[in-house]
Amino acid sequence: MELEAKIRKQQSVKISDVLIKLVKRSKLYDNIVNALLKKEKTKVREARIESAIKGKPLKILLAEDNLISQKLAVRILEKQGWKVTVANNGKEAVEWIEKNGFDLVLMDVQMPEMDGLEATKEIREKEKITGKHIPIVALTAHAFKEDEEKCLSAGMDGYTTKPIKIQELFKTIENILKEKQ
Ligand code: MN
Repeated sequence: MELEAKIRKQQSVKISDVLIKLVKRSKLYDNIVNALLKKEKTKVREARIESAIKGKPLKILLAEDNLISQKLAVRILEKQGWKVTVANNGKEAVEWIEKNGFDLVLMDVQMPEMDGLEATKEIREKEKITGKHIPIVALTAHAFKEDEEKCLSAGMDGYTTKPIKIQELFKTIENILKEKQ
């Protein structure tokens, strides 16, 4: 009888061990779920940027030679409800601008055939005749003062770093459009 009780006790210990493990596992599960939810909440918060230009149906010309950067930028811009046209280099950008109808250009600085600086200079040169001024925002991997000055002296209105950060981009575009008014 005593032995039987011992075995029973051992069994119950084992069962409680299993139960503890299950509880621990579910706690781990909860932690994982909570962590994921937290991440999701942060994403939602990021998406809820307060901005005067958010939701405005801007027509954007994106001049970017890198396919991955193109895709990323298009996704971000279209998510804002903006219409995006892609140019693969500066030359294409100049051609698109002539066709008109854009509110803003996002111009990569380094591109083959014609880079962003050259393209901007050409666009500004042509605008001397038309009297227009399309806002051009430089996209660049570098955030050096020197690069910024190069962009501005080429005739660009603003400057944002790649990969695109929505908040930074919004701020830049907002400021430029405000100045235009
Ligand atoms: Mn490039």
